[in-house]
Amino acid sequence: MGHQQHSTDAYDVVVVGGGAAGLSAALVLGRSRRSVLVVDAGEPRNAPAAHMHGYPSRDGMPPGAFLAEVRREVAAYGVGLVRDRVTAAEPVGSGEFDVSLADGGRVHARRLVVATGLVDELPDIPGVAERWGDDVMHCPYCHGWEVRDRAIGVLHAKASGIHQALLFSQLSDDVTLFLDGTDEDELPDSDWQMLAAAGVGVVSGKVGGLVVTDDALSGVRLADGRVFARSVFVVPPRMVPRDALLTALGARTRETPAGPFADVDPTGLTSVPGVWAVGNAAGPAEQVVNAASAGYRAGTTINADLLHTDLERAAALRRAGVFSPEGERAVARARTARTGA
Ligand SMILES: Cc1cc2nc3c(=O)[nH]c(=O)nc-3n(C[C@H](O)[C@H](O)[C@H](O)COP(=O)(O)OP(=O)(O)OC[C@H]3O[C@@H](n4cnc5c(N)ncnc54)[C@H](O)[C@@H]3O)c2cc1C
Repeated sequence: MGHQQHSTDAYDVVVVGGGAAGLSAALVLGRSRRSVLVVDAGEPRNAPAAHMHGYPSRDGMPPGAFLAEVRREVAAYGVGLVRDRVTAAEPVGSGEFDVSLADGGRVHARRLVVATGLVDELPDIPGVAERWGDDVMHCPYCHGWEVRDRAIGVLHAKASGIHQALLFSQLSDDVTLFLDGTDEDELPDSDWQMLAAAGVGVVSGKVGGLVVTDDALSGVRLADGRVFARSVFVVPPRMVPRDALLTALGARTRETPAGPFADVDPTGLTSVPGVWAVGNAAGPAEQVVNAASAGYRAGTTINADLLHTDLERAAALRRAGVFSPEGERAVARARTARTGA
């Protein structure tokens, strides 16, 4: 990461997480001459994948190269970038926070963007973790085109198995759904009809592991020893938001198909004043382009919020004819917001 020394310990905005969501917020805030610090632990969700797809103009770019390019763009506007981990954010009133870093540092943030992403908890099947992001995957939009026409296995899960099998059937005529111990009778007739219409095969029995040949997936082994030749395996990760900071701040959650995620308004504002949550920290379905979009929207909203906060305070003090040190600071802050001085 292109580290940049941050010369002050007070920022307009501290962005927690330097993936697409956080960096996008930082980019627009930096371009608005805001003082911004991005603290990033450096574990973006799609790191295991060799290529990133579906981002207009960057389709197929390695994820690490994409983020390096955005960091370069962001740093050019004076945004501070540090490789560290935020361990706590303590409200100090007026939607402002004292932010603690793992290295012992402490910075002040007038507003907070939580862009910490999520963790994919993988099914406990031997071989799955090792091949995750390669020929074991979850997302037809991320890698589906690349595995078109191949022999694809789909691991059944109550919430997603049928849907995933149907989606991948659009990409290959050779899709098999592995029920993994789910009783055939548990699938309603409507599911069987859709699977048949899509040409999806179904295999009963518990999945025992993957067969790998020459560093490539070659089969799915059932617990009873039978092996089905497959070169792609689709699994349902449990998507868990990295929301420890939000939980500690008491942010409200909402139910999603993947479980509770932060409840945010269309700009990413959480129920905690001054705290925005964007990208996968706020929703399981966000792809890179959506995460970047959410970060951008939060950034513009925060810029306007700070601008109005400062100018309203300055205008009130002027109206009252008060020329206190506080008043002068407020006016100066508003001036800094306009000029970046
Ligand atoms: C294998 C795989 C392949 C994928 N392929 C694609 C694809 O091709 N196209 C696509 O659009 N989407 C793809 N995705 C989805 C993509 O990864 C997400 O949409 C994207 O990463 C979300 O961006 P984000 O900024 O919200 O989170 P992330 O990219 O996960 O970034 C979050 C960052 O925050 C940091 N962080 C977390 N907690 C802290 C903390 N307390 N302090 C400081 N930093 C912290 C993390 O270390 C990380 O660097 C893929 C996902 C997977 C699992």
